Amino acid sequence: MSITLDQLNDAPIGEAAKLLDGLYEHSPWIAQQALTARPFASLAQMKHAMARVVAESGRDAQLALIRAHPELAGKAMVSQSLTAESALEQNKAGLTQCSPAEFEKIHQLNAAYNEKFGFPFILAVRGPRGTGLSRQEIIDTFERRLQGHPDFERAECLRNIHRIAELRLNDKFGVAPTVGNMVWDWHEELAQFSDPGYREKGQLTVTYLTEAHRACAAQIHAQMLDCGFDEVSLDAVGNVVGRYRSGNKEARTLLTGSHYDTVRNGGKYDGRLGIFVPLACVRALHAQDRRLPFHLEVLAFAEEEGQRFKATFLGSGALIGQFNTAWLDQKDADGITLREAMTGAGLPIDDITKLTRNAADYLGFVEVHIEQGPVLNELDLPLGVVTSINGGVRYLAEVIGTACHAGTTPMDRRSDAAAAVAEVVLFAEQRALRDGDSVATVGQLLVPNGSTNVVPGRCQFTLDMRAPIDAQRDAMVNDVLTELAAICERRKVRHTLEETMRAAAAPSAPQWQQRWEQALSTLGVPLHRMPSGAGHDAMKLHEVMPQAMLFVRGQNAGISHNPLESTTSDDMQLAVQAFSLLLDQLASES
Ligand SMILES: [Zn+2]
Repeated sequence: MSITLDQLNDAPIGEAAKLLDGLYEHSPWIAQQALTARPFASLAQMKHAMARVVAESGRDAQLALIRAHPELAGKAMVSQSLTAESALEQNKAGLTQCSPAEFEKIHQLNAAYNEKFGFPFILAVRGPRGTGLSRQEIIDTFERRLQGHPDFERAECLRNIHRIAELRLNDKFGVAPTVGNMVWDWHEELAQFSDPGYREKGQLTVTYLTEAHRACAAQIHAQMLDCGFDEVSLDAVGNVVGRYRSGNKEARTLLTGSHYDTVRNGGKYDGRLGIFVPLACVRALHAQDRRLPFHLEVLAFAEEEGQRFKATFLGSGALIGQFNTAWLDQKDADGITLREAMTGAGLPIDDITKLTRNAADYLGFVEVHIEQGPVLNELDLPLGVVTSINGGVRYLAEVIGTACHAGTTPMDRRSDAAAAVAEVVLFAEQRALRDGDSVATVGQLLVPNGSTNVVPGRCQFTLDMRAPIDAQRDAMVNDVLTELAAICERRKVRHTLEETMRAAAAPSAPQWQQRWEQALSTLGVPLHRMPSGAGHDAMKLHEVMPQAMLFVRGQNAGISHNPLESTTSDDMQLAVQAFSLLLDQLASES
């Protein structure tokens, strides 16, 4: 018999705790404490309440919780003394069918992990889709995490414990994220297309207008039709455009979408999640034969990452009239020009100018995107509302001192260019930290023609500084450049500075941000507002219409632009629900 949320909310506390028995391995105190926060509006809210109990329980209780778990494919599994829940999970992941070599490998890893960290390795072996990781995936993850820092590993074990509890909770309540599973599977299906050289290695790379890229467009095109869009087309830059018409012909249009190209050896969810989430919503609307009082236009942008050609945001840029025809002569690594690539793909270059949207026809732009950072993962929150896409400034700089003999020049007579830059690096780090949500990075440091026995005479470096508000960024930039000048003065070196990039911050339109926040509140997902450190298509549309973004938690500490990028079908389900709620809300306003 499945439990219902009403039943859990209404039951006396002892009885309610009994209903949640076995959720956290041999640790009933977590559910017991969380239940004092009843009533819960949703399972998402309850999960977060339990995660908070663990987060606030202190280090000893956390370690005890981790140690209450059995080893993977360990003695308890072999002697069949696991809890019913653990037995099911290890069985589902196929651990009971390990070959002798796999058993031996996992046995060694268990021993090494325990030796290094003093607690057992915890992995939610049912995985992000809930259907079980492969044995190879389990072993690979085990080997990778064995290299982790102890503090990180303790937190990662706890996050996996919360994921295990989430899946056990779904079982208890007899619920499954069926829409999330479908969206998760769509990502898998699209990830089968990858550029040559990467496909063979099982890596995902889809760059502008390659065969794999065009296959992705065709697949998304077919999927849009399948979901019930009224019009689907491929535009002059390769964007796939789907329109779900309003019942009212004169209505304005809500624009949404994200990109389907990837970085080299990238993740499956970056960009694509923002295409598939609205597709799932249209699929549901179509199934109910329901029309919205506004048109919905979903864009699968062809290019955002700037991998094959230097031009970036080619897909969304074209919608705001920013396609620069000078780009057509840019060549890729094989000497193929953008013009040749576009003509070869049958794209009508002359029609690009016609893609510019009339902003007055649009209500605004919303975009769902995987966070690509660790924040939501650390907070145990599935969704986050974006306040602003950070504005950035980049510099290419050089400090010039005097190259001289490393043996004969006394320390107080040197003009060491690299040592001066080292001070700048540390200052920039501290200065950005002081704002809380600014970031500053020296990504390149080079001593040209440097030698072991020569005091560096020159040091070239880059500076990348970003903040959610332009004024905040400019204040930081000003401080860092002032300090650079002061350091150079004190160290008797000089410097040059060249600004190579400046992009304005794109704050979310308050009314649209509010709609996402309302959706989260309805879902019972605690609200977390955050800036976007990375650039997104929404940044381009921001130039002509109001926009706001929703972030979805990434697994593996939120890593992105990496094959380890991942998110669960449960989180995807919540993203689809949030998007549907935003549509409902907008419908009720008009
Ligand atoms: Zn992206």
